[in-house]
Amino acid sequence: MHTFQAAENALQNKTILITGAGDGIGRIAAKTFAQYGATVILLGKTTKKLECVYDEIVAAGYPEPAIVPLDMKGATKQHYRDLAATIEMQFGHLDGLLNNASILGTLGPLEHFCVSTFENIMKVNVTAQAMITKYMFPLLRKAPNASVVFTSSGVGRVGREFWGPYAISKFATEGMMQTWSQEVGKTNIRINCINPGATNTAMRNAAFPGEDKDKLAKPEDLMSTYLYLMSDESIGVNGQSIDAQQK
Ligand code: NDP
Repeated sequence: MHTFQAAENALQNKTILITGAGDGIGRIAAKTFAQYGATVILLGKTTKKLECVYDEIVAAGYPEPAIVPLDMKGATKQHYRDLAATIEMQFGHLDGLLNNASILGTLGPLEHFCVSTFENIMKVNVTAQAMITKYMFPLLRKAPNASVVFTSSGVGRVGREFWGPYAISKFATEGMMQTWSQEVGKTNIRINCINPGATNTAMRNAAFPGEDKDKLAKPEDLMSTYLYLMSDESIGVNGQSIDAQQK
């Protein structure tokens, strides 16, 4: 695991938008960022899940979060423009964007891929991430320092049979991060990828239904890497693809 030890106020006064914040790694990242002082904006598909995370954060006495129910599969430019306008009105700028939401689709031979599933995966895992990042850019530019984190995967670095469109989408994520990070260069914005590694969540359980879940890392185990990339400790780190679980 990454060994960064965040100070307890490491994210104080930061506003961080997390996609897929209602479940899995995104849920724990949102709670952890709030624990370290951030005001988190919880974006996700299922409103009820977002409300639960909201309640948990408020009950713990962390800064009050905001909720944005949005299905990124159908989301349009206007959704992201409206979101940017709301964030600008409430917070003025954005310090962090964790692009975490993704779908796995169906595993199987590429020869038999389902075209509509392929398109949905590309929409949620690639196009929507590009769109939200594009429309948040003016707000990220207004922050003293801003961190964008895309979520990659081992199958986004080396192809693996039967991981189909999901693997292709994660290669695209790595490429998007590399391209974008070169363009931001030495500005106030840094852009990196995180590869969570095998982690006990609904997505992992869908991909490997038979494995022993107790042997997997929990989302909580990854958080020092997430905190590192969102905190000022990583200022100057740009264009990296970082493993949250270092062997
Ligand atoms: P989960 O399936 O547990 O959570 C995914 C989250 O994304 C959910 O909150 C889900 O919301 C949200 N989401 C899915 N589709 C949409 C959509 N159309 N619009 C808005 N939100 C959406 O996945 P993980 O926590 O396991 O994965 C998090 C990230 O880590 C993903 O990018 C994944 O690819 C990556 N990853 C995970 C690994 C693992 O072992 N778990 C390994 C490598 C990478 P809802 O619940 O409402 O559907």
